[in-house]
Amino acid sequence: MQLQLGLIEKYWWINAQFRVSFSKRVITERRGNVKKITAILLFFLLFSYGFVGLHSSSASVTQNDAELNFPASVIFSIDLESADNITQVKLHYGTNRDSCGTVSALAYPEFTTGSSAHARWEWNMLQSGGEPPGTTIWWQWEYIDNQGKSDFTDKQEILWLDNIYDWKLLEDGLIRFHYYENDTEYASTLKNAAVAALNHLHEDIGMLPDQPVDLYIYSSTQDMRDAVFYEPGWTGGLAYPEYNILIIGIDPSQLTWGLSTEAHELTHVLVGDYTFSCLGSTPTWLSEGLAVYGEGGPSSDQADFFEQNVNSNSLMSFNVLSGGFSEDPNIADLSYSQSFYMVDYLIKTYGKDKMLDLLQGIKAGDSIGEGLQHAYGFDLAGFQSEWRGYYSLPALDEVTQERLQNPTPVPTIIPIQGINSQAVTNDPVAQEPAIVTQATQPSDTGLGIVGWLNSHLVLILVIIGVNCLLLIVIMILVRQKGAK
Ligand SMILES: [Zn+2]
Repeated sequence: MQLQLGLIEKYWWINAQFRVSFSKRVITERRGNVKKITAILLFFLLFSYGFVGLHSSSASVTQNDAELNFPASVIFSIDLESADNITQVKLHYGTNRDSCGTVSALAYPEFTTGSSAHARWEWNMLQSGGEPPGTTIWWQWEYIDNQGKSDFTDKQEILWLDNIYDWKLLEDGLIRFHYYENDTEYASTLKNAAVAALNHLHEDIGMLPDQPVDLYIYSSTQDMRDAVFYEPGWTGGLAYPEYNILIIGIDPSQLTWGLSTEAHELTHVLVGDYTFSCLGSTPTWLSEGLAVYGEGGPSSDQADFFEQNVNSNSLMSFNVLSGGFSEDPNIADLSYSQSFYMVDYLIKTYGKDKMLDLLQGIKAGDSIGEGLQHAYGFDLAGFQSEWRGYYSLPALDEVTQERLQNPTPVPTIIPIQGINSQAVTNDPVAQEPAIVTQATQPSDTGLGIVGWLNSHLVLILVIIGVNCLLLIVIMILVRQKGAK
């Protein structure tokens, strides 16, 4: 009895709703009975509360894994013990790609309830278009019980990479050079060239990557093509600015081509970093002109071809070069070299700070016309007429130009694929699961008291009802005893 009274007092105290001063000297037999009843009720309430607590505890995770089948798929799987109250399992997943806001995909794998349960979901890259080698993939399971309560596993990450190769790494400043060719000179030559290209871009234009760039160098074009989907047969290298990744297939016998392609794609990654915007896009002449600038300029053949077109007054309209480049090899070739001479003119005439101003303007959402106006004081038409004046060329008939050149939206020559490719490679949207935007990290505690009350409302009402019934029964018993 003493023990029970002590517990009651302690409980009231903790509850702090009101304090009851018990004076043992004035406790009557009847009050003692009330206390006894209250004690029983409180024990029942505490027991009920404990029951609710037990009920809401989650199933335990015994296995949580992602298996890579490069380049076809990732299989996510989870095993849950004591899962008989779990009614739904969801998979949240995504990549480390730069994007406008935190975007994750959501999948609803099939799931059977029982004392233990297994869920499995396959991210089919053949359907979604694939992710570049070196991408960090993250995932997180959510499981929901029959009261609507969610639990999340910890967020996990895995590196999406071909494990058939024995990848080696050379790190130098902001360059992370990954390769598997057993030729240390080949590796150090290409790595040093990447570092030199980065230094050249920093000195000439003032650009530096904000984080390390990962270069995955395959030992042949075929090896590289096997690692990516939907790339045309001529694709030699790919830049993924939104991932800070570039991949190239460089055969040791094609080192000269490899060196210029590496610098070209590296520039795409950097320009992509500098101009990444949710508001606008970079015109093709600017990104490709800078990429050729990063290579060190056009080859002598390309320079000669450009010169011929200057002499025959057959250069292209700046408007046309703002869109995709032509599939016609000659027009494409001229597009690249003309873009270079446009960018080169801006840098040589106005300096690197103005070029950085232009790139920053585009990042902030400027159209190319607005960006040029802010940085240089002329729009695209003004730039064209000044540049053509420099080559002593007359003003251009835009209408005739656009009809003659009729570009297609897909660039075609080997090193150009970069910026366009990443736009089509990686969206998990195409798959069955819906894309959702996660404003906050999902969390149990995020539910709050209101959420908890909502999800346990029925249970709470049942407990209150049972307690009231019990109280009535006990009161009747006490009264009968008192009457005796
Ligand atoms: Zn390019």
